[in-house]
This record gives sequence, structure tokens and C-alpha cells, in this order.
Amino acid sequence: SDLFQPGRMNSQGWDLKIERIQAKFDESRTAFKETKFTATPLLCSDFIGEKPLDVISPYDANDIVGSVIPASLKDVETALDGAIPWSEASAEERAKILIHAADLYEKNHGLFFAVLTREAGKTALDAVGEVREAVDFLRYYANQIQHLQNKEARGIYVCVSPWNFPLAIFTGQVCAALAAGNGVIAKPAEQTPLLAFLAVQLLHEAGVPRSVLQFVPGEGATVGSALVSAPNINGVCFTGSTQTAMSINRSLAKYANPSANLIAETGGINAMIVDSTALPEQAIRDIVNASFQSAGQRCSALRLLYLQEDIAENFIKMLFGAMDELEIGDPWSVETDIGPVITNKAKIDIQCHIDLAKKDGRLLKQLKTPSQGHFVSPSVIKVNGIRDLQVEIFGPVLHIATFKASQIDQIVDDVNASGYGLTFGLHTRINDRVKQISNKIEVGNFYVNRNQIGAAVGSQPFGGEKLSGTGPKAGGPQYVPRLTVDHADKQAA
Ligand code: GLU
Repeated sequence: SDLFQPGRMNSQGWDLKIERIQAKFDESRTAFKETKFTATPLLCSDFIGEKPLDVISPYDANDIVGSVIPASLKDVETALDGAIPWSEASAEERAKILIHAADLYEKNHGLFFAVLTREAGKTALDAVGEVREAVDFLRYYANQIQHLQNKEARGIYVCVSPWNFPLAIFTGQVCAALAAGNGVIAKPAEQTPLLAFLAVQLLHEAGVPRSVLQFVPGEGATVGSALVSAPNINGVCFTGSTQTAMSINRSLAKYANPSANLIAETGGINAMIVDSTALPEQAIRDIVNASFQSAGQRCSALRLLYLQEDIAENFIKMLFGAMDELEIGDPWSVETDIGPVITNKAKIDIQCHIDLAKKDGRLLKQLKTPSQGHFVSPSVIKVNGIRDLQVEIFGPVLHIATFKASQIDQIVDDVNASGYGLTFGLHTRINDRVKQISNKIEVGNFYVNRNQIGAAVGSQPFGGEKLSGTGPKAGGPQYVPRLTVDHADKQAA
């Protein structure tokens, strides 16, 4: 298929700088600005449900986006008892249905743009990127399965997805497992059940049978934990915190059969080195995007910038100048660069980290914070190095350390010693330095002279190692095969 050919295309882009396209974008989502949505479990038979909960926009407490009826533990049992692999459809038939789903996603872009903005606080740019990524995952995995010979489904997969990519990562996990012929029980993040529900409805409409794809919204501690301790599941696809990944791993070891596997995409303390040969304008643009786009709520985001001492003073001035241009506020406005963080709790936790730095005299900059919504404004904190950062701060906070050229090896050792290994960025015009660092750095995604977010499905497989995750990278050629077993092996067994 064309996804494997050199000129293959990712899904349609939206250049929001062009007025005509901006108008089209606005028009497509307006009808859904006030719609109230309801997400319920979607099982192979009737659900019981818990008390409905309101889903409130992180930008506007008056915007009740809808409500969710969480699955009861009895519903989890129903889902597990009724789950079946997608074995009655051939790989070609499954691919056809998933590609049809991709078309339905594209057709419903206005709905998704609106709900991404309202439920997840996504800016226009992020909403566009997210719909595209979801569509890319559907087409990429669907195309891939048609080219894999002698592969069989493993069985039943539980997919546990995050709120920061409530459509794209949700869709990526689910459609990879489905493409491989597995049955799927999908558990969306508590914060963003509506987008996931809308996605599952489209997948059903495209032809995925209800018993093959079931939907169980609910809390990780109850619903999630019941799902991953079920003895009859064959694997879990998870994106979220390192801690949760570790506890899922323990659950699988304890309850599931020994062949059940875990694919986990977790956090990172991602660094970038900018040396004195870097092109400052380019590096600054990339730093601003990598640190603050999506309000820093990407696991790939830049957290720690190592800046060569000789250029630091001017560079930081320019960086602050660029930050002053950022528009922070209403995510519904196309002009907005930085929207809210996901919840009030997230806001308090991130702001607490910033306030501590302020108390110590290490806060170099914080932009003005809008009064409405869960906002943390882009901030910059001075540190000595990665050892000063114990945990991932999942928000728009950039830490800066300076270095001398002779310290580069030490920096790479320190970053490796942090235990995480997700993304790493380098801005330099010294070729040998690129080689020197890429040979040593232990990360999943290493980016040179560009920002370190926004890996594109099919060309930049995404995922980390060590504390940052396990299993094949999302959007890459190894992902779907991991969700299958080899036919010959199965026969032998
Ligand atoms: N794939 C995303 C990126 O490259 C990040 C995924 C995540 O935050 O979980 O920016």
C-alpha cells in the first residue's frame, strides 16, 4: 500500500495562518461549542454504570462539556466475559474497516476540534495535530497489517490511555490492537472520557463489532486496576506515568498468563544541549515550542536546557523576548499559543514547584497568568543540572543549566544516570558532536537541530527506554507485530 512507498502522505494539514483556512476551521467546530455530550460504557451487552459525573472544561468552569457514566465493577466483568478477538474478519477486512474509520474521523474533524478544545483545553494548533495523528495511526497500522505474513492475534488487549492525547494516543493503541486482530477493552483517562467515547462510536460505525471493541470509562484505581488484574487478558497497551506502568507490570505478573505482554509509554526528564555554534533564532523557536506548546503537557517536552556558557546571557535575553510574544488564554481563540493545564490539581502541583524555585531565588521568568481557568504560565527556572530535577514536572516549566564545552560527556552521563530515556535534543553545527552524543545518549528519540515534540506517525516512531517505557515505538513498524504471535510458533505450541 502507499504507506510503504516513498511518497506516502500523512493526513491532511490545516495551515491556520491562512485566513481562509482559519475561517474553515472555525466554521467546522462552531456547531459543537455548546453541545452537551454523554459518555457511557459501550459493552457487548447492557451496562449498569455508576453515578454520572460532570465533565468540566479546564478553561471555563461554566462550560459543562457533558457527563460520563463510569463503568461499575460488574460492567468490567461483563466486558471481560464477553470480549472476543476479531477473528472472523481477515487482515484485509480489518484494514478496510479501520481505513473507513480514518475517513470518518476526518469527516468529523469539526466535532473533534471542538471537544479537544473544550474537554482537554487544546489550542487550535494542538487540536489539528491531534486529529491528524489519530487519522495517521488508523491508516498506518491498517496498511501495515496487510503486509504482515503469518501473524495471528494474541487475544484480548486492555488499552489504558492518557488525557494529554485523548484522541490520538487512545486511537493509536486501540487501532493497533484491532488491526492485529485482537479484541480490545479500552479504558480512557478519567479527565477525557468524551473524546474517547466519540472515537469508539465512530470505530463501531465503521464496522468494528461491539464485542471486539468495548469501552469502560472509570477511574484507574478501580476500573483500570480490575482490568489489568484479569487472568484472561493477553496484554496491555498503556501510556501514562512510570509508577502506573510498574504497577500494571506487577499485576500482569501476578494474574495474567506468562505470555501476556505490556507496551508502556511513560514519562521523561528530557534535555537539550545548545552549544555556541547553534543558530540562536532556530534554537529559540524550537525551545519555545518544545517546552511550552501544549502547556508542556507532552511526555516528549523539553524540561532541561543545557546552554553553553559563552552564549548564555544573550541567548536567554532572546529567549525571554520570544516568550513575551506568547499568547496565553482562551484555547478556543485561534491566536492562543498556550492553553490551560488539565486540572486544578495539576495547576497547584506545577505552581508549587515554581514557587519553591522562586523562594530560592532561582525563578528567572514567569509570564502573566490569566485569571480564569487552570493556567500555569510559561516559566524558566535556573538549575545546575539534571540532578536538581527529581521528578518530571508535567507543565510549561523550562529549567536551564549552563555548561563549558569540556563538560559535554559529563552531561550525557548525568542524563543517562537520571534513569529516564525518552527524548533528547541537540542544537549544534559540529557534526562530530552529533555523532559523539548519539553514540552515548540512552533515549528513544534523539532530535538534532529541531524541536523534540510532535513525532510524526510512520516516519518518527516514538517511545522511550528504561524508566520511560518498554516495548516497540508507537507509529513505527514494530508496534503491530508485537501485538501478534507468529502463526508457526502458535502451531508448534
Ligand atoms: N508523541 C508525542 C510527541 O512526539 C508525545 C506523546 C506523549 O506525550 O505521550 O510529542
